[in-house]
Amino acid sequence: FVKERGRNGYALFKTEMEEKSLERILLENEMRKAIELEQFHIDYQPKMDITNNEVIGMEALVRWHHPELGRIPPNKFIPLAEETGLILPLGEWVLRHGCKQNKEWQRKGYKPLRISINMSVRQLAHPNIVEKIQEILTETELDPELLELEVTESVFADFDHAADTLQQLRDSGIHISIDDFGTGYSSFSYIKYLPVDTLKIDASFIRDIHHNEESQAIVQAVLTLARTLGMNVIAEGVESKEQLAILHEDGCNQGQGFLFSKPLSGQDFETYLIEAHKKQESND
Ligand code: C2E
Ligand code: MG
Ligand code: MG
Ligand code: MG
Repeated sequence: FVKERGRNGYALFKTEMEEKSLERILLENEMRKAIELEQFHIDYQPKMDITNNEVIGMEALVRWHHPELGRIPPNKFIPLAEETGLILPLGEWVLRHGCKQNKEWQRKGYKPLRISINMSVRQLAHPNIVEKIQEILTETELDPELLELEVTESVFADFDHAADTLQQLRDSGIHISIDDFGTGYSSFSYIKYLPVDTLKIDASFIRDIHHNEESQAIVQAVLTLARTLGMNVIAEGVESKEQLAILHEDGCNQGQGFLFSKPLSGQDFETYLIEAHKKQESND
């Protein structure tokens, strides 16, 4: 087989497995280079108070535009970064860069907004993570209150000390939110023990909220649960006015999604803030 492959070239005999692993190896190497060369950037998606259409924060979403391969979506490279451990340097870059940018917006005179940064389990499980985050906050001079970490429910299943680690971070003023809430493992019985400020309802429940009674029931249950536990709720993936109207009716006060804005470059996010502010003033 080996001989045949040698003679006939790769393409003919490459199994699907080999092809996948070749692609992975290539991508891993490219990612390593890209981290070194800082070829990543961040888009920022506004988070809204849907009761008054005010911007209340933004989520940092990492972007990779490879010089030859073009745009590679996070759903493709984040899992690979998690498997290979590259999420550690990449995640650190996103944290530092995001905190720095947020501080810069304050220096420019925009009202202080909280920046949300996605954290992988592997990042959170790193023994030095608390010190690392504190170091970044000191270095960038960002108020810990203006940083939120988004973690998925799986951290609590995969990582014994997740609650302790999040509690330490929370004690220093950092906010914690559970991303994609409702899709993971959290049972309602142990959610009360989690050191969490915000539940971020997964987009899958918002997508059909206006057609599907079960989705609406789940959203209502999450809102009731959050109210009881003193947690905040934000809906992700809000795309239409119909969805917004139902969320509003059900008492959900925060939303994020294409209806308000796609993720924007730093520059476009600033423009968005200015426009949103103008609209607000003309409404007053
Ligand atoms: P996520 O944290 O749940 O982020 C929300 C995703 O939904 C983003 O996709 C965003 O662009 C997209 N989105 C926002 N509003 C809408 C909408 O109205 N409709 C639809 N269809 N989509 C919407 P994106 O940027 O491709 O990121 C995908 C995932 O990659 C994120 O899901 C997050 O899990 C991960 N990710 C992104 N950046 C980072 C990062 O810096 N670190 C880590 N660890 N993960 C990241
Ligand atoms: Mg997120
Ligand atoms: Mg999400
Ligand atoms: Mg997600």
